[in-house]
Amino acid sequence: MKISRVETYPMLYPLPVPYGDANGFKRYRSTFVIRVVTEDDVDGWGECADWLPALKTGFEQRIIPYLIGRNARLRSETVAVIANWHRRAAAAIDMALIEIAAKSAGVHVCELWGGRLRDEVPVYASFQSYLEEEGWREASLRNVQRAADSGFRLAKVKIGGKPIAEDQRHIKLLQGELGSALGFMLDGNESYDAAAVKSWIPLLEEWNNVIWLEEPIPFRLAPEYAALREMLPIPLAGGENLPGTEALVPLLEGRALDIYQPDPMHQAGIDAFRQSLHTARLFGFRVSPHCYDGSIARMYALFAQACLPSWSKMNPEQIEPVEWDFMDNPLGAIMPLAVRNGAVAVPQGAGTGLEPDLELIRAYLWDGGSY
Ligand code: MG
Repeated sequence: MKISRVETYPMLYPLPVPYGDANGFKRYRSTFVIRVVTEDDVDGWGECADWLPALKTGFEQRIIPYLIGRNARLRSETVAVIANWHRRAAAAIDMALIEIAAKSAGVHVCELWGGRLRDEVPVYASFQSYLEEEGWREASLRNVQRAADSGFRLAKVKIGGKPIAEDQRHIKLLQGELGSALGFMLDGNESYDAAAVKSWIPLLEEWNNVIWLEEPIPFRLAPEYAALREMLPIPLAGGENLPGTEALVPLLEGRALDIYQPDPMHQAGIDAFRQSLHTARLFGFRVSPHCYDGSIARMYALFAQACLPSWSKMNPEQIEPVEWDFMDNPLGAIMPLAVRNGAVAVPQGAGTGLEPDLELIRAYLWDGGSY
């Protein structure tokens, strides 16, 4: 089952209205989609995110020449070699080869992994709360309201990019208007120190619908996270940028988190991503995948949650939610998955059970220009 062809689809969407978080404003969204095809015409899709010119060169000059003629069934070895060159590219290849393995066995990816434990997975609406113009708080309220109106029950909003009093005015506005309809996650994008986090504690004690506080301080400060975890009245979440299980274990041993948030595009493949989910479970932690970029990657996060044992015996159906980007980003619709009542039904059928939207892919192909 040799690989005969690899197609690449770099995609770019310049944002008409930039939006952002404590790390700054986004002016475009991008993704690099690939399709791996075998000699017997079995295909699989994957994607990764990085600067498109770098990915294009890396794939054309190194990764694709290496892949052509290789046995598509030798996934572990292939992904390990590519991960030494470019970890995110390895994640894309892993997705495609998993789909090929499932299709050639005539089963869904979840069945390849031992079978789904639930047919739908909850998701939360994820926001970039800041705009460059005045009135960002009111615009944020309108946006979060749209999510509540369309059936979402959970919303992640940003803090840490403005003075604390201004951020607190924003969250109080959301709580006042939507607090009875939604649970909120607050994401600080590593903006604070421990003393600044303390100024949120009275509000976190007052509100009973804040699901977690995410990365309020630099994530490298594991001992500070362990101390914050003891101090906070709500769960502490983080880990979106960890490269794999080897980086996670010290945090688990240090009891530094309540909720681990791996990103399937930031680890060296979906197999590595799932290994880190299961490792977190072994240590007694909850896991909620981070999926800011990527539609194909996010679908694999849904599959992984569908197959992961529940964190609690109280309700084996219960599983932690997957992040669902709610901002202006057409690239999130590459895989046609719909949110209904705050959850996504896991598709059936061989492979992923879905085909990507080729028209959409063609519509947003990067023209090779600088950006
Ligand atoms: Mg985050």
